[in-house]
Amino acid sequence: MERTLSIIKPDAVAKGVIGKILDRFESNGLRIAATRKLELSRKDAEAFYAIHSERPFFNDLVDFMTSGPVVVSVLEGEEAMQKNRDLMGATNPQEAAAGTIRADFAENIDANAVHGSDSVENAAIEISFFFADRDIS
Ligand code: ADP
Ligand code: MG
Repeated sequence: MERTLSIIKPDAVAKGVIGKILDRFESNGLRIAATRKLELSRKDAEAFYAIHSERPFFNDLVDFMTSGPVVVSVLEGEEAMQKNRDLMGATNPQEAAAGTIRADFAENIDANAVHGSDSVENAAIEISFFFADRDIS
């Protein structure tokens, strides 16, 4: 069974839609194998998004991801990585298809409600960033 990492970002946590977003996963065949609310330190956010460190938006992204609590979850199911990406919608909520999480809960490309791993390989790396094996069941 495939696993992927989801993060409910500070904007969505502040709006009080943690439950609504987790429901999208469970209602679409993704099981929550682990979940935890936490605040990312600056060092955590920089390490997690290291792949984007040369992008012009990197500092804004780190500022935003450390602006409040997030909810990190391991989602499990058939083709979990792609299914989560489909449920999330496009990176820019203005371009996200109707009915996707970003279309329904996000304001703009900076505050876009959710993160999801973009490959099965990265999913394994991102899951181990937040969870030990014994945290996942
Ligand atoms: P995704 O989250 O859809 O996988 P990326 O991995 O490309 O998107 O980017 C990571 C995050 O960086 C995005 O979710 C968004 O919050 C932010 N981001 C991406 N592109 C931009 C941009 N052009 N301007 C501002 N923020 C951006
Ligand atoms: Mg990405």
